[in-house]
Amino acid sequence: MRCPVCHADDTKVVDSRAADDGGAIRRRRHCLACSYRFTTYERVEEVPLVVVKRSGQKEPFDRAKVVAGIQAAAKGRPVSQERIESLATAVEDAMRVTGHEVTSAQVGLAVLDALRDVDEVAYVRFASVYKGFDDASDFQREISLLAKGTAPKRR
Ligand SMILES: [Zn+2]
Repeated sequence: MRCPVCHADDTKVVDSRAADDGGAIRRRRHCLACSYRFTTYERVEEVPLVVVKRSGQKEPFDRAKVVAGIQAAAKGRPVSQERIESLATAVEDAMRVTGHEVTSAQVGLAVLDALRDVDEVAYVRFASVYKGFDDASDFQREISLLAKGTAPKRR
């Protein structure tokens, strides 16, 4: 961290402590060149993931909702909770790669993509209850893919 007074790069952290209720780290620094002391704050750069619903309403991405959706679809099926959690993580990762703002249809399609390889019954259930598609053709595409007999991998 460069010294704000003499612009030397050689500064030393003399104290670190939690600040802002643990949301930040406050560091006391000491410039080795001019002895100036200054403070820096380190924070997580959190980019929120926003889901745009069909109504146009926006809400923060909620991983728990994805888990609940998969759980409902996989009820009574040989899909472990661990597997469901990892599917939800895969969906969240896919959405974060897509951008800061995704549509509920994109989330639904990502869940379908994830389920297709895991359990055919859960996949069809999710597809049949999923109402978030912006475009009916997305849904048609999924169903026709299934009808073509994309065999789910056995795990
Ligand atoms: Zn300095």
